[in-house]
Amino acid sequence: MTWDFSTEPEFAAKLDWARDFVREEIYPLEVLDLDHAGFRRLAAPLQQRVKEHGLWAAHLGPELGGQGYGQLKLGLLHEILGTSELAPYVFGCQAPDSGNAELLALAGTDEQRARWMHPLLDGTLLSAFSMTEQGTGSDPRQFTTSARLDGDEWVLNGRKWFVGNASRADFHIVMAVTEPDAPPHHRMSMLIVPTGVAGIETRELGLMNDPEHRNPVWSHCEVGYHDVRVPAENLLGGRGEAFALAQKRLGPGRIHHCMRWIGVCRRAFDMLCERAVSIDVHGSLLSEKQTVQNWVADSAAAIESARLLTLRTAWKIDQVGAKEARTDIAMIKYHGATVLHDVIDRAIQVHGSLGFSTDLPLEQMYRWARAARIYDGPDEVHRVTVAKRLLKKYSARTVPTEHVPTRRAAALERFRGQLDLALAAQ
Ligand SMILES: Cc1cc2nc3c(=O)[nH]c(=O)nc-3n(C[C@H](O)[C@H](O)[C@H](O)COP(=O)(O)OP(=O)(O)OC[C@H]3O[C@@H](n4cnc5c(N)ncnc54)[C@H](O)[C@@H]3O)c2cc1C
Repeated sequence: MTWDFSTEPEFAAKLDWARDFVREEIYPLEVLDLDHAGFRRLAAPLQQRVKEHGLWAAHLGPELGGQGYGQLKLGLLHEILGTSELAPYVFGCQAPDSGNAELLALAGTDEQRARWMHPLLDGTLLSAFSMTEQGTGSDPRQFTTSARLDGDEWVLNGRKWFVGNASRADFHIVMAVTEPDAPPHHRMSMLIVPTGVAGIETRELGLMNDPEHRNPVWSHCEVGYHDVRVPAENLLGGRGEAFALAQKRLGPGRIHHCMRWIGVCRRAFDMLCERAVSIDVHGSLLSEKQTVQNWVADSAAAIESARLLTLRTAWKIDQVGAKEARTDIAMIKYHGATVLHDVIDRAIQVHGSLGFSTDLPLEQMYRWARAARIYDGPDEVHRVTVAKRLLKKYSARTVPTEHVPTRRAAALERFRGQLDLALAAQ
């Protein structure tokens, strides 16, 4: 038997350190109303301490300056980092930089790695992943942003949407149609586009959780590329390979989100329980009311089930790779997003108007959780993936396999001899 739910002591000690560090050093930064530059200034010494503790860029292998922990250990670490939206940046595993570094490691040339990936890993450059086009995000086959070779340069034209950190990034990795006549999944390529070049127009978007785009770690932008020219060698991977590369990037990336959601759930759950044992109304504590007890019990079960599904998916990726774990990754994406929403929702409810106010972080968590059902592919698309893959294992039958009269007739036929003997013996 190899099913083992324990954490080896050496890694458990690292997790303990990370838990204390996030609570004591990062939580206080959340309430300082920092802008991006201010946050980066305060985060720099903390990043140094994370590096000294060997937890920097833990999603990467040792050859890239990470720890090579694999997805399972990473899952346990991300649960802790997920409790604060500032923590992944301090630990060098902030999306989209983490996924972009993985992409560069996967498909970059030596020159591309030296120029873009290593500074990204050091935290001296920021990046964006520019893929979505408005209204077609869930069907990339419809993307129209294109790039054509003109001599030794790519000329890029088009409009992208919801590009994380596009306005702050030093370079974008852009998905563009370069092979218009190829089959849909082979039409696009990836290009590395430095943001200093002419022709890039960015508009910061107001978000449900950040209407005035003041978030210290995130911005989201609409980006226009107008005759943007980059050298031919800025092609990342092969021509027509963008789809395949994006799948490789988004698979593990998705599960990192799910891992972090467990951390958010736990923080909301702690608030729920603390309030339940603190408030006395209508003659008893909230924690003594059955409705609230149901919320506690249901939330705990939901968090634990999402956690186990996430960690088992992480384990599976470690064992057989992200491609083989595709159904599991899709399943945990929509299941995790639902659990995240429901737990925060109950925590708000137990706090009443206080939960609805900005005096607690719950309303912000709630607004951010709403995005979880959309980003990295809407939940509906993941449900379709899961259902299709599961249904493939079944074939149509006129009479259901479990039809009792049919089964009875077959069983009678099979055991006729023994039944006759039994009857004769009576
Ligand atoms: C917070 C956040 C951060 C993001 N960061 C980035 C980023 O850094 N880079 C980037 O490129 N993109 C980013 N995105 C975009 C994200 O990837 C897309 O929003 C997502 O893929 C959905 O695409 P869409 O918004 O165009 O929705 P659409 O494709 O317009 O879909 C709209 C709705 O249609 C329904 N739907 C679609 N397909 C199906 C189906 N097959 N069956 C049933 N219903 C369906 C779903 O309900 C879906 O929500 C981000 C989005 C958010 C919210």
